[in-house]
Amino acid sequence: MVSYPNMTSFSDELNQRLAQAREQNLFRELRRVDSAQGPRVWIGVRELLNFSSNDYLGLATHPALKIAAIEAVEKYGAGAGASRLISGSLNPFHELEAALAKFKKTEAALTFATGYAASTGTIPALMGKDDIIILDKLVHASIVDGARLSGAKLRVFAHNDLADLEEKLQWAAKQMASATDKPIHTLVITESVFSMDGDLAPLAEIVALKEKYGVWLMVDEAHATGVIGKSGRGLADELDLGNRIEIQMGTLGKALGASGGYVCGSRALTDYLINRARSFIFSTAPVPAAAASATAAVRLLETSEGPARRKMLWELISAFNDRLKLSPNSLPSAIIPIILGDESRTLAAAEALRAKGIYIPAIRYPTVARGQARLRVTLTAAHTEADIAALAQELTPIIGNRKS
Ligand SMILES: *Cc1c(COP(=O)(O)O)cnc(C)c1O
Repeated sequence: MVSYPNMTSFSDELNQRLAQAREQNLFRELRRVDSAQGPRVWIGVRELLNFSSNDYLGLATHPALKIAAIEAVEKYGAGAGASRLISGSLNPFHELEAALAKFKKTEAALTFATGYAASTGTIPALMGKDDIIILDKLVHASIVDGARLSGAKLRVFAHNDLADLEEKLQWAAKQMASATDKPIHTLVITESVFSMDGDLAPLAEIVALKEKYGVWLMVDEAHATGVIGKSGRGLADELDLGNRIEIQMGTLGKALGASGGYVCGSRALTDYLINRARSFIFSTAPVPAAAASATAAVRLLETSEGPARRKMLWELISAFNDRLKLSPNSLPSAIIPIILGDESRTLAAAEALRAKGIYIPAIRYPTVARGQARLRVTLTAAHTEADIAALAQELTPIIGNRKS
């Protein structure tokens, strides 16, 4: 054994910090899965029913996506070699962007290595330290990080609270009106389906407000693309708001079953991002196979298989709601949070469910606020009615004991 005397204090310090996380029931560790992501996963020698994946339509293991990836590897190789601006931009990215722009009915699309990179590249490219960004309280970490990175003044409005948003917009309007040397801009950012609560933003009202105050709007459709709307194009399209939103972004890694992030909007926006988004410019292009799979997914959604898979998904969501009587209304998305509050209780519940063969993640701080810990159930079109029945049976006693 080699020892690293100078490293001891470093590791000690980290172990101390981790011990603190453990004490607060906030320690996280990786659980190795030995199978593909699907409605069932193998962890070692045990098979578990999986309600943790964002692969809402079950496309991650779809033959069309797998074949597209294999063919792309054969034709374009494993890696892209460099940033798209350096070594030339491989055709699969262009095909994907054309397919996405068509699907989202926008002039153009630009793809990134991940949704995280899309947010952290796009927001600072557009906004600077004199500008203002107004965020919903519950937006995803990638948006918070992008907003912080921009150096803009940040304001947070209470979750889905239009009155509070308007208050922040009034404040922003004053700053914009009194800007003397150069104009300042304001960007409002929300999600359409919230990642940890599964509820929808009042998007039509938010669009009306952003127009009233003459500001820009970015909508993250990570959990809506593929799932929400008759055609699965997302909430913006379902409400016919697409051409009134400056920046529509999302991921290719959830319902689209592949990997990557996208921004859809005007050609000016994508040209600008190619020139200014640092996570796009200074990063090796994703593997071409990921783009090819995502393109296959977008195309698949435009065949009859898209509506068929969504129908299956919504039937399962509705069956789950009926069994557990979670909401008097129909549930708005495939994300169903069972909020238990206390971190240790939530961890214990997740562990008890695993012992029964059901895998549901315990979501804790910093993904959600402290004291808001939850089991985050996600359903997919690849589940069956029997899976939902099994899930409901094991969850019923836990839900019965719920505070909220
Ligand atoms: C998952 C997620 C992202 C990030 O997308 P990745 O492709 O996973 O990096 C961005 N926004 C929201 C709301 C998400 O849930």
